[in-house]
Amino acid sequence: MDIERYSPPDAAELRHRAEVRLQQKFTSPSPDLVQTDNEQLIQELQVHQIELEMQNEELRDAQNRLEQTLRRYTDLYEFAPVGYLTLTENDAIQAINLTGVILLGRERASLIGRRLTPLIAEQSRPIFNFFVGRMQESASKAVCEVMLNLPDTSNRYLQLDGLGVKSDGQYIYRITAMDITQRKQAEEALSRSEARYRQIVETANEGIWMLDDHYRTTFVNWRVLDMLGYQLDEMFTRPLEDFLLPDDVDDHRRQMARRTRDENVTYERRFRHKNGQTLWMLISAAVLLDAKGGFTGALNMLTDITERKQTEEWLKLSEARYRAIVDDQTDLVCRSLSDGTLTFVNSAYCCYFGRTAEELLGVSFAPLIPEEDRADALTQAMACDAEHPIRTHEHRVIRADGSIRYVQWTSRAILDEHNALIETQSVGRDVTERKQMEEELYRLTVTDPLTGAFNRRYLMQVLDMEIRRAQRYTRPLSLIMFDLDHFKQINDTFGHQQGDRVLKGVATRVQRRLRRTDHFVRWGGEEFMILTTETARSEALALAKILHSELCNAPFPDIGRVTASFGVSEHRLHEALDEWLKRVDDLVYAVKRDGRNHIQHDGDVTDR
Ligand code: GH3
Ligand code: MG
Ligand code: MG
Repeated sequence: MDIERYSPPDAAELRHRAEVRLQQKFTSPSPDLVQTDNEQLIQELQVHQIELEMQNEELRDAQNRLEQTLRRYTDLYEFAPVGYLTLTENDAIQAINLTGVILLGRERASLIGRRLTPLIAEQSRPIFNFFVGRMQESASKAVCEVMLNLPDTSNRYLQLDGLGVKSDGQYIYRITAMDITQRKQAEEALSRSEARYRQIVETANEGIWMLDDHYRTTFVNWRVLDMLGYQLDEMFTRPLEDFLLPDDVDDHRRQMARRTRDENVTYERRFRHKNGQTLWMLISAAVLLDAKGGFTGALNMLTDITERKQTEEWLKLSEARYRAIVDDQTDLVCRSLSDGTLTFVNSAYCCYFGRTAEELLGVSFAPLIPEEDRADALTQAMACDAEHPIRTHEHRVIRADGSIRYVQWTSRAILDEHNALIETQSVGRDVTERKQMEEELYRLTVTDPLTGAFNRRYLMQVLDMEIRRAQRYTRPLSLIMFDLDHFKQINDTFGHQQGDRVLKGVATRVQRRLRRTDHFVRWGGEEFMILTTETARSEALALAKILHSELCNAPFPDIGRVTASFGVSEHRLHEALDEWLKRVDDLVYAVKRDGRNHIQHDGDVTDR
């Protein structure tokens, strides 16, 4: 039974109930029994006695009920989910429930009579003071959020709801305190992460543009403004049509409407700068949907790719132009990998080699080179690298009809960003005619016009090369030198022309007897040399004897017998060219001194 619903019985009622109880106690008296005054008094006393007993009972009940109710209210007060505080006008804590004590993080004994302000963190005190002022001013509740100074230095936030009540001319404040630490921390974390996201969004190099379901702008970052040249307010007030190229508007809407939540689409779209210039944007778009999957807008990330687009366009044009140049020209153009595999050939290349691009691509160009030139040509062709990006080289090639031609190539290394070779691009030109002319020119520069023998310049070149080769492979190398005897007399006797005839005749006779590998040289006026490779002195001597007899045994018509003095010398290991030449010259000189018309060599044998 609630105390609010209990009301004590009135006196008449109590009396009536006591009389009823007395009658029940003493069996009912007979109606005709005459009661004496004493008896009446005793009954009265008894009734009163019972009345008192009943009153006592009632009081005990009432007290029990009161105690129960009080306990319940104390529990409700002490263990309420919020703290209850009563503050005096100078903010001293007059009463505080257990929850309040726990919230303030101190002993109740130390809290009672203590001012609340010092328990509030410094930064929250102005708010708290304002809150206290509000409680005085208005009858309505004041609310504030404060941070506490807890003994363990952790942070706790309280929401205080307070009411000022005036009693005896003094204010007391009734305050409920609620722990909002978790909410506050979540709020702080949220605002921190919001600040972070805001910073990312604002400093992003991409334009970030949000649209609602009517394609109206709801958010743009500074980059969008920067890219399109509009002010922020213009972005919100202008329709989408103002920013896109007319052709692209409908397409753009269709793109957006078609998408679903899971689909992030990237596409390229033309925009219009405020100054009318066309901009290419790469858009990465995500659709924003509500819980039911309804379209609520779109989040677009914009990257300005105008420059890339222009470069692409330019490249396309220039590619076409270059392709035309490459295809139309007569030069052979190819690209090949480091193993010689062809990756590109122009039509001139196909035409020149009499093969289709399909036949040529994907296989090496090696079979197009004569076998003896192949290894060298491949090495040359693939010698381009970062250090030597451009090289020129020549080699012979075989055309479809089997003819051998010379092609001069200019090769260029195609490198990646780390300077590693990707491919070699080569431009080739048939230089066979030029090569033949060059060869003829060379032949002329190294040939004696009178006799057709090689000249001294040629021998010096060949000697240099052959000595090195002979030394490297320790192969024998010999020189035969001969000087016509008394040639001056022939000139003097028969005339210079006859002298020339003799010189020509000598050359013809000698050349007849030489091997292909022997080099026959007119060394001076009537002096000749034969450089014999792979030939030791004894073999050279044998050859010299043949030549000697060839010359001397058959007389020249009108002139008669012409003789010559021979020297034969084999090159010695590490001997300098000059020394060797002097040695052979000395041998000839020795023969002259010794009466001419015989052979002297650098061994022991002397032969006449
Ligand atoms: P030796 O037996 O000592 O060699 O006597 P030589 O007369 O042959 O020697 P020398 O060096 O005195 O004379 C060489 C001559 O060869 C002199 C020069 O007029 C002649 N001569 C050099 N070149 C030519 C040429 O191209 N044509 C002709 N007809 N004579 C030439
Ligand atoms: Mg001479
Ligand atoms: Mg002579």
